[in-house]
Amino acid sequence: MIKVNLKRVLQAALLSILIIAVSAAAVSASENLTVHFIDVGQGDSELLQFAGKNILIDGGTQDMGPRVESYLRDHGVSRLDLLVATHPHEDHIGGLLAVLNDFPVGQVLDSGQPHTSQTYENFLTLIDQKNIPFAVAERGQTIDLDPKLKIEVLFPPSTPFAGNDLNQNSVVLKVTYNKVSFLLMADAGFEAEDSIMAAGYDLKSTVMKIGHHGSSSSTGSAFLAKVRPEVEGLLKSGQEMTTATRPRRP
Ligand SMILES: [Zn+2]
Repeated sequence: MIKVNLKRVLQAALLSILIIAVSAAAVSASENLTVHFIDVGQGDSELLQFAGKNILIDGGTQDMGPRVESYLRDHGVSRLDLLVATHPHEDHIGGLLAVLNDFPVGQVLDSGQPHTSQTYENFLTLIDQKNIPFAVAERGQTIDLDPKLKIEVLFPPSTPFAGNDLNQNSVVLKVTYNKVSFLLMADAGFEAEDSIMAAGYDLKSTVMKIGHHGSSSSTGSAFLAKVRPEVEGLLKSGQEMTTATRPRRP
């Protein structure tokens, strides 16, 4: 049995995602996997909590840094075991600068795409100054934070994809705990989806965070048919979802 309990809703025009805490019944509270989709306006930020471990994926724009930091503190986070920058666009890594300044971080996973923005340069400089282990995401990797939590890197491939387009080379993760799985698409679009499908992954996921803020160039029907999420959402900001109201697929 899956309990779905909405925490927050990501704000992004009409389209985006849910914010969800999922726990498998009959496990101790410390073993619940909770996924928060933090409201950072036009941007992305997700916090995953499992068995005392904290993972932050993206941090919204730079002016959202304080909001992300408050959210982390409000949810008992004093340290991040893993920080993921899905790609170097400002609406994903901007807020991570404050977080890197103020929270100890165990390791950073980055898309490895070169980008010359001041924000990305500052991001890399901070990681360097603080001697944080830095890894480039590559399809096929798994990240070992807890033996019960499976974190798979589905994208990008080892050679840059689609003419070095930053969105299309986003880090795509599948996070699985027991029978509950989250597919986190970052800003990946159709080309990336085709490549992920061709690689033959088991894409079936309980919850899918749709790609590129719900843009029309993401979440193709063939891809969605493979993921078959039990929970997918196209919500307005501020809407909430519970097990009673969540959409049911036919
Ligand atoms: Zn974006």
